[in-house]
Amino acid sequence: MDQDSPEVMTALQTAIRASALCERIRMDLAGGEILLKSDRSPVTIADYGSQAIICKLIRERFPDDTIVAEEDSKEIRKPDRSEILEQVTNYVNAFIRTDSSEEVCSWIDFGSNSVTDRFWALDPIDGTKGFLRGDQYAIALALIEKGRVKLGILACPNLYSDIYHPLGEKGCLFLALKGLGSFQMDSTGANKRPIFVSETKRPSEAIITESVEADHADHLTHQRLAQKLNISKPSLRMDSQAKYGILARGEVTLYLRVPSSVEPGYKENIWDHAAGSIIAEEAGGRVTDVLGRPLDFSSGIKMEKNRGILVSNGILHEVVLKALEM
Ligand code: AMP
Ligand code: MG
Repeated sequence: MDQDSPEVMTALQTAIRASALCERIRMDLAGGEILLKSDRSPVTIADYGSQAIICKLIRERFPDDTIVAEEDSKEIRKPDRSEILEQVTNYVNAFIRTDSSEEVCSWIDFGSNSVTDRFWALDPIDGTKGFLRGDQYAIALALIEKGRVKLGILACPNLYSDIYHPLGEKGCLFLALKGLGSFQMDSTGANKRPIFVSETKRPSEAIITESVEADHADHLTHQRLAQKLNISKPSLRMDSQAKYGILARGEVTLYLRVPSSVEPGYKENIWDHAAGSIIAEEAGGRVTDVLGRPLDFSSGIKMEKNRGILVSNGILHEVVLKALEM
């Protein structure tokens, strides 16, 4: 797959549109009404709108491909949710013409749970809690063939593009293609430039990134690991797979995700890591679980064979794995 292949073009176009939709909703409604799914995780009209747009375009261009996506239309089809469905439809209509809520639901439901030989993994809004707080979130899309990630895109509409100017212009796109490297672009897709992980060799000089949400990772264990490695710089807490993006562009050295003590048996979702992992790897980084095993994108929507996540600049990977054995 080269840079100009239809898969890359489609993925970029659709991620750019979905991120524009998410930002519009964030500006208009500060995220809008929050719905709670059966597992009590939050979902917003932006999650539904983003998934509708992305699934519609991918299905149109690649009718034979499976899309494994986080949301479905069950909740917004309920009669008492009709106002929310109408909002979703109106926002989607601003990007792809439709006046039918039924049509929008059918686009959302192009997403399924079945992992096949070739499929797209989609998180329409990764880091919904960050989105609602006005912090970081990402639209994450990956193409997986025979269990291997071939293409990954992260649209991070609220992430500063210049690491030396965190208060400067917001909005970045990260793209990685297997064997061809990782790139950062402006939120429009312009100004594409290659990115690389940091060359930090001394563990003590590393910078850690981790979740904002304490329930998503074991911050205390991360802190102990930092002490063990004499890391003095404070950890950078950030929502969503934007963490993979900032590691890939050399801003931080390590992304730690040791399962939290609240849910020690938690299994990660493939759409939470597929796009991010190829972006870190193609920038020169290494991605495994906290026991050093490769991430498994072939068994189902849950990464059953993995426990937590460790991402590094490659150089420091073994040292950190060893330190995690504590
Ligand atoms: P982050 O923004 O990196 O904290 O990750 C957000 C993702 O964490 C969401 O997309 C959820 O799928 C995922 N998540 C939800 N509960 C947990 C948990 N107990 N442990 C780890 N990740 C979780
Ligand atoms: Mg997610």
